[in-house]
Amino acid sequence: MKIAIVGTGYVGLPTGVAFAEHGHEVVCIDTDTDRIATLRQGISPIKEPGLSQALLSTIEAGDLSFSDNLKDGIEGAEAVFCAVGTPESETGAANLEFVFKVAEDVGKLISQYTVFVNKSTVPAGTAAAVRDRIAAVTDVEFDVVSNPEFMAEGTALADVRTPSRIVVGTSSPRALEVMREIYDTYIRNGRNFRVMSEESAELTKHLSNGLLATKVSFNNEAATLAEAYGADIEDIRIAMGDDPRIGRDFMYVGPGWGGSCFPKDSRALIWLGQQVGIDLKVMQAADEANDVKMRELSGNVLDYFDGDLKGKKIALWGLAFKKNTDDIRESPAIFTMERLLDAGAKISAYDPLAMENAKTKYSDNKKISFGPRYDVLEDADALVIATDSEVYRIVNMEKLKQKMKAPVIFDGRNMIDYKIATKGGVYYHGNGRPILNPHE
Ligand code: NAD
Repeated sequence: MKIAIVGTGYVGLPTGVAFAEHGHEVVCIDTDTDRIATLRQGISPIKEPGLSQALLSTIEAGDLSFSDNLKDGIEGAEAVFCAVGTPESETGAANLEFVFKVAEDVGKLISQYTVFVNKSTVPAGTAAAVRDRIAAVTDVEFDVVSNPEFMAEGTALADVRTPSRIVVGTSSPRALEVMREIYDTYIRNGRNFRVMSEESAELTKHLSNGLLATKVSFNNEAATLAEAYGADIEDIRIAMGDDPRIGRDFMYVGPGWGGSCFPKDSRALIWLGQQVGIDLKVMQAADEANDVKMRELSGNVLDYFDGDLKGKKIALWGLAFKKNTDDIRESPAIFTMERLLDAGAKISAYDPLAMENAKTKYSDNKKISFGPRYDVLEDADALVIATDSEVYRIVNMEKLKQKMKAPVIFDGRNMIDYKIATKGGVYYHGNGRPILNPHE
């Protein structure tokens, strides 16, 4: 089947690659002409495990191509997927202007029955609003389907290749037939294919992200509590996870949740509730708890230095919002870095994937430098670990101690082996575990 995908970001590009791998003829479209030019050379503008290789293979096989022209790109496509951004607006609601623009533009260009598939995360009721907009500009037959995306950055390609579930919201048998054909090989490989109303599909996405964010907020707050009682959240987390109703997944603690989805989707959910007079108190509390947690890591550093970081050099390991991605949008690591800068610190930062994005964002800021993992420790007064990249698990403590002015570590992700830190004679402040202070 010929499929067009509008938006070649963290969702659109891996989705296009996976569909091409499943034998479809895919055209990925974007208004960002530089991005399309890069993609045409077989270079991925985003960093995701396995994506570069898969991109090259699918282009070489002739199954994936790119266009910055919507008319050319959707020509002959039976389904047009919309995977553009739905950022937070001032009210907390999802800003749907990009989705509506794509819908109207596609509506004006279609010349045969087309299924408009919404992959962007949108509030319940959006499919109906999109349908109205397309109907206003065309007489050609079409359907609108909600098909939210559940992949996570850092595992994007693996997730879209083998999705935990494919959720399809539609009441049109004709559109459902097209969706079944698109996902036929996935279904035959045992993937869950869940058909429901458009509103249910739209809400499934928002509520899934809301629940995941709430789980992280709960665990992050639990870590703060554990630390206050001299307990160790790492022991607690594992013993809690022994209960299958709680489970091991998504139980890790960190300096707050961020990224391009949880913050905006949580607030969009709160907004959705308000529209129908429902106070989503649990979601609100999770959001508030996250605001508090986001300040904790930088707060620990400030407390250690009595609130004054002037003249201090802080090494920062981690810029992305989590491991295996270059995405720094709403990253707790970036939030922590900005708080330390505001308090007068100089920052020397390392991240295995996100340094280019951070360099671009902070190109004017002379107080931030970037470098290899151990180089950034040179003469540092403290090290802050803010993301969970695996590379931080193995640390050469002797090298670290030689490089740093003093071995002072704030480990917001509990990456460093506690036993090594205990023996190392370092000041070690993890997240939800007793502080190790060799001078006490
Ligand atoms: P993104 O910002 O990475 O990519 C969006 C792309 O759309 C950009 O390249 C932009 O240039 C392009 N675009 C915007 N308007 C366009 C237009 N009119 N025509 C063509 N291209 C256009 O966004 P993303 O992270 O991929 O997210 C897309 C949607 O998927 C959002 O609704 C998001 O909430 C949802 N989602 C994201 C994730 C994630 O982890 N990033 C996971 C699941 C769902």
